[in-house]
Amino acid sequence: MTDIIFSSWGGEIIENRGNETQNQASVKNLDLPEYFKQDEKIKALMGWKGIVLRSPEVDIIDLCRAYFKEVLAHSETCDKCNYCKTGWVEMLEVFEDIANGEATEEDLEFMQSAAEAIVSNAKCSIGKAGPRPLFDALKYFADDFSKAVSGEKPVKKGTYYSKLTAPCLDACPIHLDIPKYIELIKDAKFAESLTVIRERLPIAGIVGRVCFRPCEKHCRRGNLDEPISIKALKRFVADHERSEQKEPAYEITSSQNSGKVAIVGAGPAGITCAYHLARNGHQVTIYESLNEPGGMSAVGIPDYRLPRNILQGEVAQIQKMGVVINYGQTIGNDLTLAGLENEFDAVFIGMGAQHSTQMGIEGENDEYQGFIPGLTYLREVNAGRDPYPQGKKAVVIGGGNVAIDCVRCCLRTDQEDIHLVYRRTRNEMPADEAEIHDAEEEQVQFHFLTAPVRILAEDGKVVGLECIKMELGEADASGRPRPVPVEGSEFVFECDTIVSAIGQQVDLSLLEGVDDVQTTKWNTIVVDEYTKQSSRPKIFVAGDCETGPDALITACAGGRRAARSIDRLINTQPLDYDDNHYFDKLFETVKVYDPDEEILKVESKQRFQPSMLPADKRKSTFDEVEQGLSAQEAVAEAERCLRCYQVATIAV
Ligand SMILES: Cc1cc2nc3c(=O)[nH]c(=O)nc-3n(C[C@H](O)[C@H](O)[C@H](O)COP(=O)(O)OP(=O)(O)OC[C@H]3O[C@@H](n4cnc5c(N)ncnc54)[C@H](O)[C@@H]3O)c2cc1C
Repeated sequence: MTDIIFSSWGGEIIENRGNETQNQASVKNLDLPEYFKQDEKIKALMGWKGIVLRSPEVDIIDLCRAYFKEVLAHSETCDKCNYCKTGWVEMLEVFEDIANGEATEEDLEFMQSAAEAIVSNAKCSIGKAGPRPLFDALKYFADDFSKAVSGEKPVKKGTYYSKLTAPCLDACPIHLDIPKYIELIKDAKFAESLTVIRERLPIAGIVGRVCFRPCEKHCRRGNLDEPISIKALKRFVADHERSEQKEPAYEITSSQNSGKVAIVGAGPAGITCAYHLARNGHQVTIYESLNEPGGMSAVGIPDYRLPRNILQGEVAQIQKMGVVINYGQTIGNDLTLAGLENEFDAVFIGMGAQHSTQMGIEGENDEYQGFIPGLTYLREVNAGRDPYPQGKKAVVIGGGNVAIDCVRCCLRTDQEDIHLVYRRTRNEMPADEAEIHDAEEEQVQFHFLTAPVRILAEDGKVVGLECIKMELGEADASGRPRPVPVEGSEFVFECDTIVSAIGQQVDLSLLEGVDDVQTTKWNTIVVDEYTKQSSRPKIFVAGDCETGPDALITACAGGRRAARSIDRLINTQPLDYDDNHYFDKLFETVKVYDPDEEILKVESKQRFQPSMLPADKRKSTFDEVEQGLSAQEAVAEAERCLRCYQVATIAV
C-alpha cells in the first residue's frame, strides 16, 4: 500500500506529509483495500494499532471524535475500572468542545493524562489498546489540535463507519460476542450469558461440544500462555440451564409482514434459519428426510462426542417457538422443490452433503461384505446397529473428521485391530487436532503416506486392502503437498472391514424440474456469499450444500444470514449488504488477530479445560468422552479472558 500520508499502524511511523507524490513508504503487514463500499474510498483508518491516513481531506480531530464515540456507543467498558468508566466520556466531551470552539490547551493536556490513566489502570484490552490512536494523534498532529483549539482551523465533519470487534469474535463464522458472554460468566450471570449466545446461535449445547473452535485459534490469551476454553464455556452455560430445568425465554419480535417459509433439511443450517425466522414471527415448516433432527450432528457425529438428548432438547425448544418439522419427507421425492416454491413465500435449502465420495478403486462397487462408505457406517452405528458384527480387523481410509469418527466407532463396536490409512502425513490431516489426539490415545494405528489401490475379496467378502506407499511432492491447488505414489511399493493389508471416508458429496437431484439454479463443478449450489440468495430469487441456500463439507458453526452462520435475507424479501426490502458485510471484508485484509503480537504480562492462570474419560475406559463405550466444566471452573476460566474488544473507525 503506497498511498499513505501518515501511519502509526503497529507502532511503525510513516511520515509522508509534504512528500505526497514520491518516495512514499508503505505500511508493513497492512493491506488496506482501496474501497469500503463500491463507491466509497477508504481515506483513513483509526483503530487498535494506530492511525493510517490516506487523504488530506480527513480532519484528524473529527476522526478521533468519531472513534471515541464508537467506543462509548457500545458501552464496552465493563464498568469495573473507574478510569475507563469515566475517562472515555470525559475525553469525548473534550472532542465535542473542540468542535464547538470551546476547548483550551489544558483540555488537551487533560485528555492525554486521562488516556494514560485508562491505559495504566485498565484490566482489559479495550482500556489498554483503545486510547492508542489518541496518543499518536496528539503527538503527530499536535499542530492540528492547537489550531483547532485556537479557532484558527475549525473542525471539519467527515463521514465514518465504525465497528466493534475482537479477534475471537471476528474469527467465529457467526460472530458470537464471545468477550461479552464470557464476561457474564465471570459475574456468574449464566442465563444472561446464554442469552447473548442465542442472539445468534440457537444450539449452544451442540456447538459447545463439537465446534472446531476457530475462536480459540485466534484468542490473544494464546499469545501469552493458553487460549481461553471458549467452547467449554459455551457448553457450560447451555448445560447449566438444562441442569436447572429452566425454559429458555426467546424474544419474538414480529416483523411487519409475516410470511410462510419452507426449509429443506433439519440440520444445523436449517435449524438456525428456522430459529431466526420464527423469532421474527414467520411461519416455518421444515421438511426432513430422516425421522429425527440434527443432520450430520445426529447421524454423523457419534454419541460419545455429542449425546442425542442434548440435540433433541435444543431442537425441541425451537419447535416450541412454532417451527413445524415434517419428518420422513424428502424433497425431490415426496414433494417437489417447484411445489414448495409455489406454496411458500421463500424456500431455504440446507440439505447438506449426504453422500460419501467414491475412492475410484477396484472392488469399490462390487458390494463385498465388509466394505462400507463412511457416512453409511456412521448412520448405522448412530442408529445403534453394528453394520458388520463379524468384523475384527478394520481399515478406515481418510484423514478428515469423518475418518476419525469411523475409527473411533470401530473401536466401540468390538473391532480388535483398527487402522487408519492416509495418503499424506499427520501434518496435512484435515481432521481436528484434538480428535486425532483422542484417537491416538485410544490406540488407533495410523499409517501415513499410504493410499488404497484395490479391495481384495474372497467369496464376496473383504479379505484385504492393497495399498501403495506415497511421498510428498509439489503443493497442489489446496496448498498442501501432493502425494505421489512410490513405484513398486504396493503391499496388502489383511482385514475384514474397510470403511472409506475420503469426502462428502452433495446430492443435487432435488433441483430437477426447477430451472436456473446455478451450481458449481463440485456439485454445490451457487449463492450470493452474504445474502445466501440463489440464482432463483425465492430460493436461499446455506450449509454444506453451499460450501461443501465444512463445520457446524459455518452452517449455522449461513442459516442465520439466509434468515435475514428471507425476512427482508418478505418485507419487500432490498437484499442489499449491510455495513457488517463490508467490515467482514475489511477485516479479512486488516487482520484483527496478530499471532506475533506480544502481550503485556498479566497474572498467569491455569487454563481450565474439560476433563476426559480415561482412554482405556472410554474406548469400549459410547458414553460422552469430554466432561463439562463445573461452575467454579467456568468462572475461573472466564476470569482469564483479556476482553480484547477493539474498535475500528474508517473515514470515507
Ligand atoms: C462424521 C462427521 C463428523 C463431523 N464432526 C464435526 C465436528 O466435530 N464439528 C463440526 O463443527 N462439524 C462437524 N462435522 C460437519 C458438520 O456436521 C456439518 O458441516 C454440518 O452438519 C452441516 O450442516 P447442514 O445443515 O448444512 O447439513 P446436514 O447436517 O447434513 O443436514 C442436512 C439435513 O438435510 C436433510 N436432507 C437432505 N436432503 C434432503 C431432501 N431432499 N429433503 C429433505 N431433507 C433432506 C438431511 O437428512 C439432513 O438432516 C462433521 C460431519 C460429519 C459427517
